[in-house]
Amino acid sequence: MKNVLKSPEPDELKNYKMRFSSQFSRWANLQQNKKAYKSTRNTLVSDQKWLCAYCEIDLHPKDRCIEHFIPRHQSTRENNCDLDWQNMLANCKGGMENVDVSEEENERRISQPPNRVACCSAAKADFIPDGKLLNPLELPIFRLFRFSSLDGEIRPDENACENAGIPIEYVQFTIQKLGLNVQRLRNERVAIISEITQELDARDDGLINPILLKKQIASERFGDGKHDWPAFFTTIRWILGEGAEKHLTAISYLG
Ligand SMILES: [Zn+2]
Repeated sequence: MKNVLKSPEPDELKNYKMRFSSQFSRWANLQQNKKAYKSTRNTLVSDQKWLCAYCEIDLHPKDRCIEHFIPRHQSTRENNCDLDWQNMLANCKGGMENVDVSEEENERRISQPPNRVACCSAAKADFIPDGKLLNPLELPIFRLFRFSSLDGEIRPDENACENAGIPIEYVQFTIQKLGLNVQRLRNERVAIISEITQELDARDDGLINPILLKKQIASERFGDGKHDWPAFFTTIRWILGEGAEKHLTAISYLG
């Protein structure tokens, strides 16, 4: 999980809200308005550079949804969380292993538990954030997590949490509540850690400065920050350590 930098509310969403300001318009109503809905979804996805706001897998067109950080059942006429731009994040659907299915089939599969252990918004479900659940919109730009190269587990980075003034138990709570250590995600992290470790070994000629090598690989993986981020951004950032930080500073990384 990394911080998310949100752009201003899309005009289509703003206009929709103005048009229906006298009504208590809910999420399902907005979804009927294809223009406003698509613009909202596409802006979220592009702000997040195609990564799920919680688990950081790629947002496949058949495996994405809009997450409301404060659940929609908390909406009132006066405080409508359904249509609050700052309350929205783009998410994966929480555990699709095979996305090569129709949209309807996808919906059917994920709505029929217990076929797999859910993560992200599917794991969070109707939970009402109580301050302990970290919001990607409010995270610092530095890395708050570290990983196990043995089993791909995500853990709080204690020093970073302390520097950010974020209680370690909040980070642990967030990991647990969002199911960020389900086996599927751990396996994918182990694979990326192993791939990059092998790449580092293969390209280490004994002469190159190790941090420079990591910076080079970070530059190839992350690019200039104007395009999609690679899946498991934070895991890659952790493996490449200081090299990654140097590259992210060079491209003025903000989220
Ligand atoms: Zn996810």
